[in-house]
Amino acid sequence: MDIEPSTDLSTQSGPASYAPESADRMPPSPREHLASPVTRAALRVQNTLLAAAREYLAEQGFVEMLPPVIGPVTDPGARGAKQVDVDYYGHRYKLMTSSILYKQAALTAFGRIFYVAPNVRLEPPETAGTGRHLAEFHQLDVEIADGDRADAMRTAEGVVTFAVARVVRDRSEELALLGRDPDAFAPLLDGPFGLITHTEAVATLAGLDHGQNPDAEIDWPGEKLLSEKADRPFFVTDYPKGSRGFYDKEDPRRPGVLNNFDLILPEGFGEVSSGSEREAEYRRIVARIRETGENPAKYEWYLELLRAGIPGSAGFGIGVERLTRYVSGLDHVWQAVAFPKLPGVVAP
Ligand code: AMP
Ligand code: MG
Repeated sequence: MDIEPSTDLSTQSGPASYAPESADRMPPSPREHLASPVTRAALRVQNTLLAAAREYLAEQGFVEMLPPVIGPVTDPGARGAKQVDVDYYGHRYKLMTSSILYKQAALTAFGRIFYVAPNVRLEPPETAGTGRHLAEFHQLDVEIADGDRADAMRTAEGVVTFAVARVVRDRSEELALLGRDPDAFAPLLDGPFGLITHTEAVATLAGLDHGQNPDAEIDWPGEKLLSEKADRPFFVTDYPKGSRGFYDKEDPRRPGVLNNFDLILPEGFGEVSSGSEREAEYRRIVARIRETGENPAKYEWYLELLRAGIPGSAGFGIGVERLTRYVSGLDHVWQAVAFPKLPGVVAP
């Protein structure tokens, strides 16, 4: 999950910043927004990204499944964001903040699956001006049975590269309208993506006079510094235990280190994906849930499945709107959404 401190908005905005109180940060009326050539171009770019991602994943043997929208529990790790309750015949259900538990479960049907899944997270209202936060967004959610972290990273790099190449090939008119120079993607298309460990990221940030907590996910000002220096997407691996969800697998040879990653976009756009090798062993998951202070009983259906056995796996989720924003070169992620829901902003 994102852990992004959200108090200092002056350091939080994206590449072309929106001042927190600026009227620019608010989407216009739906009619005006949908009639805007910028919105239409961004949605066409998004359409091409999604079509290309589906084509790429299908060729790799992935089955697209339809994601559940509500359930008795959802991903517990939406730190800072609130979950939304739904009354389900007298039972308190949740809107999905992430499909992670269902992705693991779905591997009992097929070995390679993906969703284009809607997520609802009531992020703190002050994140409305960051350029990166929505209260409702989508993830391209991929899971690989018997895969390891390297498989997940290879697949994430492959699908992003293929989709961006397709936009450059097919959407030159839209990119021109958006003022996005396709040459900006040359390093990404040349590959490979960059790679640093969390420890290296912390050290680099120390050299830039940015004190990053070594026990936490990279904070947004730090992530922005790293992202602005990069000319192509890069992975950050090996986050410390405690900074991520209970399903990220701890490296058996390096206690306290998780076999996981984030994918960070260049030019200051920041995180677009988080992924990991998954923990799938019943006892370890129960222990990890307890470590996070949660009651395992809440996860009954999931734990029952684990007890019967599910494949080990690796996977990731790519923020569809954040990827669209980057490829379109937009100031704000809401510009990549037909009916944007900004944190704290009442909108249709
Ligand atoms: P997470 O599980 O928090 O790592 O989320 C997975 C991906 O979803 C992130 O890498 C982002 O691309 C995207 N994402 C997470 N939270 C938001 C949000 N509030 N608004 C837009 N995209 C988000
Ligand atoms: Mg994340």
